[in-house]
Amino acid sequence: MPMAQANESPIKLYSKREKIYPKRVSGRYRNLKWIAMIITLSVYYVVPFIRWDRGTGAPDQAVLIDLTRARAYWFFIEIWPQEVYILTGILIFAAVTLFFVTSLFGRVWCGYFCPQTVWTDLFIWVERLVQGDRIKRKKLTEGPLTFEKLWKKALTHLIWIAIAWCTAGSFVLYFNDAPTLVRSFLEFNVSPTVLTFIAGLTFSTYLMAGFAREQVCIYMCPYARFQSAMFDKDTLIIGYDFVRGEPRGHHKKNDTWEGRGHCIDCTACVQVCPTGIDIRKGLQMDCIACGLCVDACDNVMDKIGLPRGLIRYDSEKGLAKEQKAKLLRPRTIYYAIILSAVGMLILYGLGTRTLTEIHVMHDRNPVYVRLSDGKIRNGYEVKILNKTHQDRHYSLSVSDLENPEIQIKGAGDFSPLDLFVSADSVADYRVFISAEPQKNDRNSIIFRIEDLGSNITAKRKSIFVSR
Ligand code: SF4
Ligand code: SF4
Repeated sequence: MPMAQANESPIKLYSKREKIYPKRVSGRYRNLKWIAMIITLSVYYVVPFIRWDRGTGAPDQAVLIDLTRARAYWFFIEIWPQEVYILTGILIFAAVTLFFVTSLFGRVWCGYFCPQTVWTDLFIWVERLVQGDRIKRKKLTEGPLTFEKLWKKALTHLIWIAIAWCTAGSFVLYFNDAPTLVRSFLEFNVSPTVLTFIAGLTFSTYLMAGFAREQVCIYMCPYARFQSAMFDKDTLIIGYDFVRGEPRGHHKKNDTWEGRGHCIDCTACVQVCPTGIDIRKGLQMDCIACGLCVDACDNVMDKIGLPRGLIRYDSEKGLAKEQKAKLLRPRTIYYAIILSAVGMLILYGLGTRTLTEIHVMHDRNPVYVRLSDGKIRNGYEVKILNKTHQDRHYSLSVSDLENPEIQIKGAGDFSPLDLFVSADSVADYRVFISAEPQKNDRNSIIFRIEDLGSNITAKRKSIFVSR
């Protein structure tokens, strides 16, 4: 091996994570983060306890995913498995909203509303409360094991686990009647399944917010990877004003600012950063746009008597002093159009949602049967959906077929003129239609049901096979 190569140090493909101890900071963006945290956590913990009257027999929890009955409830909206397209529409709407907001205002979701950010912020707040600010925490962690270290670390982890447990417990409340489940907890009467879920979610919250923290944003989150596709030079970002800041250097009182930039290289912006980056190196994927470095730098500028905004929330164009960010541009217009279209489709879906539905499945084998009197009989699986919260009776009829005879399996128990479907449920009926052989091999026919109480009707196309 040549000497030069032998002396070269190998390229490191792995570098150990350096623990980050974000410093406390105060300012506009920090206040916004507190407000966002209080709102998001309050919504998350309180919503399962909000009641919504849907009538007798129906759950009265405003937001509920009822897995046993396969229903999702959101205040006045109730989604059945057959209406999963509405849920899909809502998810698409949420995704496009995220793209739209990102193209306008950058990573505001990441910096203020993402659960990973909110819970990490909360965990850091607890850590700081018990162990002190940056330097104290660093000293404590890196120092020898003392009684003080032991109790402070133990207390921090206990509070973290308590928060993680409450977070997991609240999550489970979205899938169960909240007051009933809370009562079961107080009576130590919770099912092993619920306990297993809570244990798993407690562990993952503790792990993600207590240990993984910024690594989730940097290495695990797919959104961080593809959001640059939504960025352009007008998107608002957190950025450092190179023109104003450079050349940087330490500054003493009464030193002139002549021939130098306004950055005094104090690293306050780096010390407060929850992902541990130096925004002065330019826009980085690791930056979650929390704005804490803006607060830190503004505080420094206030102290040294220079205008705020060396680090600021601005577009790339704005930072380069080319021009102000434009909100209206092709990208944001496309997103707005898609958003409106999806929103209208969801409203249409909800507006045309019926409380009664019929689904018909023609038998595949045998497709038809010739009876001894020469008539042809076809068999069907008919499902009647009663989405109301009252028991209902329906009459069934078939059109586009001459003199059809309708038989329901178990005749005597059921008459096509009075099919019972209990509240908020689906009834399956085995239906046979007999008629004289038709001219065509396959005839389109229409099944129609009528709610005997309200005259609401529903219909579904099917076929009648003659040969
Ligand atoms: S660089 Fe600034 S805005 Fe970006 S994550 Fe760090 S502190 Fe937040
Ligand atoms: S806080 Fe402001 S002045 Fe201090 S290093 Fe950062 S950019 Fe420079």
